[in-house]
Amino acid sequence: MYKETQKMKEITLVYLDRSGGLEKFVQDCRKYNDSKQSYAVYRFVISVNPSDVAELDATLGNYVLHKPMKAAGIFQSVCFVAIKTLSLIEQLQTEAQISILLKPTHLPPLPSYVLSLSAFPFNYTSKRFYTSEGIAIAMGTVTKYTQGARFLCTGETCPYSEGFNYIRVHVPGATESATVRNDFACSLCSSPLQEDMKFRVLGDKQIVEMIDAKVLHALKGYSDHKAHFRIQAFTVFLRDELANRMTIGNHYKIIGIPACVQNGPQATACIEASIPYSFLIPLVFSPSFIGENFKYLLSLTSGSCWRFTALLANIFASQVVPPGTYNTLKLAILLSLVQTTCEIENADYLDLLVVTSDSLIADRLLNYSLCLLPRGIRHPASSDIFPSVSKDKHGTGSASIQACSALLAQGGICYIGDLSSYKKDKLELLQSVLESRTTTLFIPGKKYGEEADQQVTISVQTNFWSYVDVASSPKKHIARDSFLIGQMDLSLIPPNLLDGFGLLIYNEFPSCQLSFPVLNHVLQNAINPEAMLYRVSEQFRTQDYEEFILFAKNLHVQLSSEAENLIQGYYLASRRVRRDSAHGSKLSASALKVLYVQISLSKAHTKLSLRKKVLEEDALIAILLFESSLTLKHGKSALCIEPNAVFPFDLSDEDSLQQRDIYLLQCHHQLLQFIGAYGPGTYISTNEE
Ligand SMILES: [Zn+2]
Repeated sequence: MYKETQKMKEITLVYLDRSGGLEKFVQDCRKYNDSKQSYAVYRFVISVNPSDVAELDATLGNYVLHKPMKAAGIFQSVCFVAIKTLSLIEQLQTEAQISILLKPTHLPPLPSYVLSLSAFPFNYTSKRFYTSEGIAIAMGTVTKYTQGARFLCTGETCPYSEGFNYIRVHVPGATESATVRNDFACSLCSSPLQEDMKFRVLGDKQIVEMIDAKVLHALKGYSDHKAHFRIQAFTVFLRDELANRMTIGNHYKIIGIPACVQNGPQATACIEASIPYSFLIPLVFSPSFIGENFKYLLSLTSGSCWRFTALLANIFASQVVPPGTYNTLKLAILLSLVQTTCEIENADYLDLLVVTSDSLIADRLLNYSLCLLPRGIRHPASSDIFPSVSKDKHGTGSASIQACSALLAQGGICYIGDLSSYKKDKLELLQSVLESRTTTLFIPGKKYGEEADQQVTISVQTNFWSYVDVASSPKKHIARDSFLIGQMDLSLIPPNLLDGFGLLIYNEFPSCQLSFPVLNHVLQNAINPEAMLYRVSEQFRTQDYEEFILFAKNLHVQLSSEAENLIQGYYLASRRVRRDSAHGSKLSASALKVLYVQISLSKAHTKLSLRKKVLEEDALIAILLFESSLTLKHGKSALCIEPNAVFPFDLSDEDSLQQRDIYLLQCHHQLLQFIGAYGPGTYISTNEE
């Protein structure tokens, strides 16, 4: 045994030398040495590649993976010998003062190394490394824990009444009380030990709660077995250099040692994280393929920039509404779906507010569409939309931030239902989030046992969907004379909030005159919910759209200068046109926001077309949708678009697609004229008449 341990120590040194770990270790030692201060514990983080170690020595590799405490012990004595022989830290006295944290660079990609947060039983007795995956749904503030402590014997004549013989360090999964207690006794003279308080070493600790990503299914728009769900979060301890390295709401892969923490009568299963930095980036999923049927559709429509998306919208959600109905709304939904991303930098947003007099259909459509994204969250009315602060449940009494719906939908969609059902304060908060894409939490220090108050700003990368039912508006009885053509009564909603939502979409069929196909669909569906009513639902299944959207949303698109000019020209012209004598320009939202929405819409249309360059054709669709949205708010302008600007007629066959192309070309022409007439001449028309 001794011989084997000796060999492993030699191998450890060889490994440290070869992997560059020794160099880093020497640097770390230098920092301690230069500080001249004497510590109870000297802590070192050593990164180990399990496969490299196993190649050098199978037993040591086995230790690193399956007995990390033993492996750390071997590294500890190697490091002690190194410090002593090379005189790296003068103050260091005993081996016990060295604390080694081994961080595996990865684990073997085998099922036995994966710990599912949702599977039962949860094996926390093995004390070895596992990888796990989950979404951070709650995050505590950073507090202190005892990393190490020095104890002295109280026996006056005992040699251990001085020196660094009794050093206790934190081990994974242990609680504070395991490190520091007052019932230790001296092994030489049996006198009680006492902690030397001035040598206590404190570290940072942050408690994060994670859930398995599967849990999100329960929070999606429609789920089959909602009643049988129980959401169980797992506690993850982030210590020292890992504190504040995770962002709430993101999906992470972690490496850690499962443990069980006793907190009074309650035992909590948890994971002591030992995560390499390379893992601390949120996971993003992107399939590299789209279904054959979509490819075929794309090839059929390659002659026009508008046909593919028109057909996509036309047949979309045939499980919920008949093909060919609600095309504008369905297109807007698709555009918003592809404008979701987990990337913090250059993230685009496209929020939707559906103006409807038939909230049932709108709700069904939004619910259905939500489920196409991994992070589509239907906000339950009983909880908070935005992050909130509560007391940590692990006995520390410190503050913990709960993700709530908006952050669970990070990189996806948060559907909040009927906008008019929210109280004024909630709407104000929503408006500020829509404007800034951040939310700020105030954590009063007094309440959570901290000296100072804290303010935490969290970025909210979510598209918000909502609807407002104009049929239920209490002001319905007011004579509509005061409204301009095309304008809707949206007085229920504060105007600034309307501006906060990028796009208002009116869903076309009023409930009193449901078209026959819709009525038929609703009835058929009620009789037999499982029935496939249309052939197209089999050719383009929900799952196909899911893959398609996941693929399209990850395309990186670039704006062409032509498209940009068109958008700018339209913006300036419409600012000038939409002006009334009393209030000045009616485009009350900031120029930045207005331009942003149109660029975002154009980019979305490009992604949905599976192209990479935003063309004038994309910008035109964006402008038509945006102008329709403005018309709902302020009435018609001189641009004078059709009531149903993007889909003015049914798409029944090839001819109608052709007809729509001609119509859109006319719109483009009309738009150029509009810009020519009202724009300040920034746009140089290429169409000489
Ligand atoms: Zn003693």
